[in-house]
Amino acid sequence: MNSVQQAGSTPTSGSMLLGVIGDPIIHSKSPVMHNAALKALGIPGSYVPLHIKPEGLEGAIQAVRSLGFRGINVTIPHKVEVMKYLDHIDEGAARVGAVNTIVNNNGVLTGYNTDGIGYVRSLKEEACPVLNGKKIVVLGAGGAARGIIHALTAEHPDQISVVNRTASKAIELAQEWGALADIQGFSEAEAKEVVASADVLINTTSVGMHPNIADLPVPKEWIPEGIVVSDLIYNPLETALLHTSSDKGCIIHGGLGMFVNQGAYALEYWTGLAAPVEIMKEAVLHSFKI
Ligand code: NAP
Repeated sequence: MNSVQQAGSTPTSGSMLLGVIGDPIIHSKSPVMHNAALKALGIPGSYVPLHIKPEGLEGAIQAVRSLGFRGINVTIPHKVEVMKYLDHIDEGAARVGAVNTIVNNNGVLTGYNTDGIGYVRSLKEEACPVLNGKKIVVLGAGGAARGIIHALTAEHPDQISVVNRTASKAIELAQEWGALADIQGFSEAEAKEVVASADVLINTTSVGMHPNIADLPVPKEWIPEGIVVSDLIYNPLETALLHTSSDKGCIIHGGLGMFVNQGAYALEYWTGLAAPVEIMKEAVLHSFKI
């Protein structure tokens, strides 16, 4: 038995089939990252981008079984909808309410969410080793925010404050997970005061993402000097928020590490092997240059 089969995969050809489904999918960096990882691990196989429209989602998930894919990633807009076509949902993914990774064990599909744990691994490794006792301010309450806030609660921060343009979403999220940590939701009108208390400020909104790269999610003057500032956006690699925060003596952390680590966790679920994280990161960085 080779390492691919030991990991519980279904292919009969001995080659590992992986992919990502989304709409659109053409700009995804996942194929370049995972194909570099498969090569580095010496696993024969391929990771393919699959453009799946919402009306084709159920059929695509059935095809994962019938074509013997070992696993797939799931991206916008399918992360929530896909859950109803799976056999099992991991507890964390169920709480977050979204799946970004599916593992196929002999036709039985299990959904996981590696976004949040990937983010926290990256934040701790690159910018803030200890989150315990910290005051964390999260800008945004969308899908990505849910994943990372859920993972942050496991780090025992002193407090998590969520600020969102649509305040009701932040307040509801805080109520939903109030038993996991001290979480409070706020409107944008309250943001200035909330941001002033941050040890760690995390932007999970799409403000500052390509092509609107000059936009800031909060004014420069609000950012406390010397704190940790993190942005989930990785296009551009250094957002205006990070650039501005660096000028104020902050420790900055971009979204590339989250992207690489969510992929690393997914690969570890599929192969049972430690992911070659540096090679994956280099592959993504290289693809930005060409
Ligand atoms: P989403 O579910 O659509 O949520 C978007 C969030 O941004 C919401 O909280 C929304 O507020 C807020 N927002 C959007 N435009 C805004 C504006 N002009 N002013 C203030 N708030 C605004 O999207 P998502 O999936 O969470 O993704 C959010 C960001 O994270 C994107 O930039 C994405 O690229 C990034 N991301 C990165 C990774 C990674 O691996 N690094 C992974 C996932 C996502 P409302 O609720 O009021 O609409």
